[in-house]
Amino acid sequence: MAAPSGPTVPTTTDAPAPPPFGTVPAGVMVVCDVDDGVFGQPQVVPTADISLHPFAHVLHYGSACFEGLKAHRGHDGVVRLFRYERHVERMRRSAELMLLPPPPEDLLRQAIESAVVSNLDVTPAPPGALYVRPMLFGTEANIGAAAAPSRDAKLLVVCSPVGDYFAGGGRPLRLLVETELPRTTPQFGEAKAGANYVMALGVTRRAAAEFGVDQVLFAPGGSVQETGAANFLLIDNDRVVTRALDGSFLHGVTRDSVLTLARDLGYQVEEREITVEELLGWPGEAALAGTAAVLAGVGTLVHEGREVTIGDGAVGPNTERLREALVAIQQGAGDDRHGWRTVVA
Ligand SMILES: *Cc1c(COP(=O)(O)O)cnc(C)c1O
Repeated sequence: MAAPSGPTVPTTTDAPAPPPFGTVPAGVMVVCDVDDGVFGQPQVVPTADISLHPFAHVLHYGSACFEGLKAHRGHDGVVRLFRYERHVERMRRSAELMLLPPPPEDLLRQAIESAVVSNLDVTPAPPGALYVRPMLFGTEANIGAAAAPSRDAKLLVVCSPVGDYFAGGGRPLRLLVETELPRTTPQFGEAKAGANYVMALGVTRRAAAEFGVDQVLFAPGGSVQETGAANFLLIDNDRVVTRALDGSFLHGVTRDSVLTLARDLGYQVEEREITVEELLGWPGEAALAGTAAVLAGVGTLVHEGREVTIGDGAVGPNTERLREALVAIQQGAGDDRHGWRTVVA
């Protein structure tokens, strides 16, 4: 967004608002060209425009997937990637689903590490982090290839310094429960792909305009799946409940981490179906889990035009507790008992 022109009035009490998530490119990116399925040598280059042939497969037939992970600078100054092997695995899975050549594990790890090491100068102190966005798309220059996968591709790893998503306290979210329209198609539920986002976008925009909600919780056929970009959890003093892994939704690293920490803290973890009926009668807390927001409390649901308050409508204490436990590990505090951190610098 453009800054207003003309003189600005300095305020003494407020720090300048941080730029919105994902709007600040880090100076350096990693690029790797894939030629007939073979990955070349990743190159570290300045973040800048890339060139694509107008016949490139991705521009016509949507062959693209991505990842999103974070490198955290700890209070000790050390920079650590969080569970990046998981993101590497998942990107390979998404690539397969998009019929793109899957990046070799070592190459993708190395590309991610190089991107972080090259952007240490903009990796912020906590609670900020360096958001890392690997992306892969089909570049074969052939608009006749509608029914063929792209054998050529480009792998990029771009980065962006991000602030605390919760600066200002973490307002409880308002979700529309959508029981008819799906988030995506069954065969792409597990893919982290832009195509899924654009499919959910119209539904989410309409819901925002009509009901003033932040997100749509997709529950086709009355069975809760997830929102457009985050997994959904029910939480109370004893339990964390979430949909069991299946092909219908994106298997979040944050979801898995929160479930693991919840078990460590003595919660009972239930991975099973959640019906809309159970959801609307849930007496405890609800939250969204994802890399960007970590764990965000849900305060209100809108279902068939009716508003349902979750708990007392505020971010719940168990949600806060689990979020703090996760953030502490990400920032390097305490034991890394599950081996989730990789020191980069
Ligand atoms: C990325 C993503 C998530 C969250 O996954 P994390 O690994 O926790 O960041 C959830 N749902 C969708 C659709 C996503 O694309």
